[in-house]
Amino acid sequence: MWGENDGPVSCIACGEEVPRSDAREYDKHGDRWTRDGKDFEYLCKPCFRDLTKHARDGLEDALDDAGAGRVDDEEFIGRFLDATREEPAERE
Ligand SMILES: [Zn+2]
Repeated sequence: MWGENDGPVSCIACGEEVPRSDAREYDKHGDRWTRDGKDFEYLCKPCFRDLTKHARDGLEDALDDAGAGRVDDEEFIGRFLDATREEPAERE
């Protein structure tokens, strides 16, 4: 059962719908403390783990470099994943 404020919400990285209580809040402005009139975006746990694994330091810089808040989500995620990928996971 969903509570009134318990989603579901869509992960901005993979589009998966997860309960809000299970998602990680992601504020593209890097300012989670100013909540008035804002819509937060959400990452599911696997994506959140992926992002933090790749960019534990300088995450906000990486997000900003990728165009957070300036390009649409799809473009942003693509840029961000490119920027934070350390090496190809597999060779074709
Ligand atoms: Zn996800």
